[in-house]
Amino acid sequence: SAKSRVTIIGSGNWGSVAAKLIASNTLELNSFHDEVRMWVFEEILPNGEKLTEVINRTNENVKYLPGIKLGRNVVADPNLENAVKDANMLVFVTSHQFMEGICKRIAGKIREDAEAISLIKGMEVKKEGPCMISSLISEQLGINCCVLMGANIANEIALEKFSEATIGYRKDKEIMEKWVQLFNTPYFIVSAVQDVEGVELCGTLKNVVAIAAGLVDGLDMGNNTKAAIMRIGLREMKALSKLLFPSVKDSTFFESCGVADLITTCLGGRNRKCAKAFARNGGKKSFDELEAEMLQGQKLQGVSTAKEVYEVLCHRGWLELFPLFSTVHEICVGRLPPKAITKYFDHIPKY
Ligand code: NAD
Ligand code: 13P
Repeated sequence: SAKSRVTIIGSGNWGSVAAKLIASNTLELNSFHDEVRMWVFEEILPNGEKLTEVINRTNENVKYLPGIKLGRNVVADPNLENAVKDANMLVFVTSHQFMEGICKRIAGKIREDAEAISLIKGMEVKKEGPCMISSLISEQLGINCCVLMGANIANEIALEKFSEATIGYRKDKEIMEKWVQLFNTPYFIVSAVQDVEGVELCGTLKNVVAIAAGLVDGLDMGNNTKAAIMRIGLREMKALSKLLFPSVKDSTFFESCGVADLITTCLGGRNRKCAKAFARNGGKKSFDELEAEMLQGQKLQGVSTAKEVYEVLCHRGWLELFPLFSTVHEICVGRLPPKAITKYFDHIPKY
């Protein structure tokens, strides 16, 4: 059968590492075209050059992943419609807040046989309720969408340090196996579970817990408090996932996308880093300011996810059931001080 063509939609820190992983595999595997196209949100660098031109000349994403060669078969493309039109394997890896606009732009302009996978940690909240990003992609583009999540701090994988990841798929084993082939390398071990919602909610909700972990770091509360935050956060992740989607499996929380991602993000992620600075400043500098100052264009997902989760909890009357999630949002918007992050420890709900 014809060879598959891969396009990556997104080129931030993780998007660039995903390009490197995939490009090493398409060169090796006969079932894929060598070229990996990467849609880049065009930017003018301080020296006046366009980011796409620099990526194509130097083979490095000098802004979001400096010092790492992506592979000569990665081609940066600033034109979204052009980047997606020939691909039958679409890899979505942008900040979640941009996905609605991206889907609108490419709906009706992709191949009919296209398959998608989302590496995006986050959700949208609509009047009808929460909408996971993989569902947004499926619904708006009319295609199947798997997810890939895991304990995957991008800069570590860029240096080829060993890690694992989890693919969530719905029914089609053949497609799942193709995605595993495309991502798996000797230092990036991918396994798959039949639980799209469970995998995606793990990746999404752990970013809220990471904010809480950063706050306790900023308040110098120590390792026991941080472990308690992670335990309570994991319980809330599981409880909310199952309330939203009863099909979510307990075993998913023991995969890389679950407890392992929670741990690595609470130890070394960007959400943790900015929340620590937020608490150190006593909440005087907003998360938007800290993101701009500390992340050089990279984006936080946890603060907006906390807001989205809060809206869902309010709407369903579940606020009392999720004291950690709701407190994180109230701290982020300044309604509570950072030290409120441990205030509910004496009335943790029994689910
Ligand atoms: P990033 O935060 O490094 O970069 C933000 C990206 O958004 C940049 O490519 C920027 O060009 C682009 N952008 C800015 N404005 C835009 C606009 N208006 N429209 C479209 N794009 C715009 O991105 P990332 O780290 O690749 O994160 C993407 C997803 O991957 C997120 O959901 C994140 O949670 C997830 N993720 C990240 C990591 C990591 O370690 N970085 C690991 C696993 C998963
Ligand atoms: P941060 O966005 O907090 O850096 O988390 C990265 C991540 O998702 C690691 O798996």
